[in-house]
Amino acid sequence: MVKAEGVHKSFGPVQVLKGIDLEVAPREVFCLIGPSGSGKSTFLRCINHLEKVNSGRLYVDGELVGYRQKGDKLYELKDREVAEKRRDIGMVFQRFNLFPHMTALENVIEAPVQVKGESKAVARERALKLLDRVGLADKAANYPSQLSGGQQQRVAIARALAMEPKLMLFDEPTSALDPELVGDVLDVMRGLAEDGMTMIVVTHEMGFAREVGDSVVFMDDGVVVESGHPREVLTNPRHERTKSFLSKVL
Ligand code: ADP
Ligand code: MG
Repeated sequence: MVKAEGVHKSFGPVQVLKGIDLEVAPREVFCLIGPSGSGKSTFLRCINHLEKVNSGRLYVDGELVGYRQKGDKLYELKDREVAEKRRDIGMVFQRFNLFPHMTALENVIEAPVQVKGESKAVARERALKLLDRVGLADKAANYPSQLSGGQQQRVAIARALAMEPKLMLFDEPTSALDPELVGDVLDVMRGLAEDGMTMIVVTHEMGFAREVGDSVVFMDDGVVVESGHPREVLTNPRHERTKSFLSKVL
């Protein structure tokens, strides 16, 4: 579903990604861990067309991100084409970014109606199912300000799912939450994983990575230091940098 080959990304003189190689299979739960500033968010943003890679190749679902191939030539995607590709990728951020003036239901309906041109009735029916799936059927009419952080984050997940993405990106989805609200959000993500969604999850929740992750990648300073089955990477890390990081977060 995702393949990175030697992906480099710089901001001016600052090299942030220094040759990332990795592969995410369909239906895989792929956990990305690493210290702050190691390039995790930047990598997700590259997958989601929010940043352009400087060199290397990045594929989503077999297609080179940012380009269209015609014969043996590559053409940069136009804005409209980028927007189309981005519809297939759901992203959930640390901050929930719900539209504050819309109810939970309206937040979930917004993109399918505005972006996909879906009828309100169809979008509404799906949105209600999704809100039920994230445990918020009874909060459909609530505004974000009337919801806890954990509930808002679950609405944000429902909103991303409403576009029926083939890939979900989570960037520290529970880092901004009070500890007692984290579990409900992780449970929703666990359910998604069980339903076979392909997910890349940047997280500091090592319990989630160990129990739900199919693989764990430890990134530091713009490179993949170590990757493998959660059991190997989290309980039996081979590299000093991984050991040192884990000793701080576990
Ligand atoms: P992480 O998510 O692992 O904490 P980030 O991908 O957010 O790491 O950031 C990696 C590095 O890239 C940081 O040093 C950050 O300051 C830098 N960076 C990220 N985005 C930008 C940007 N738009 N312009 C300049 N530097 C950036
Ligand atoms: Mg980040």
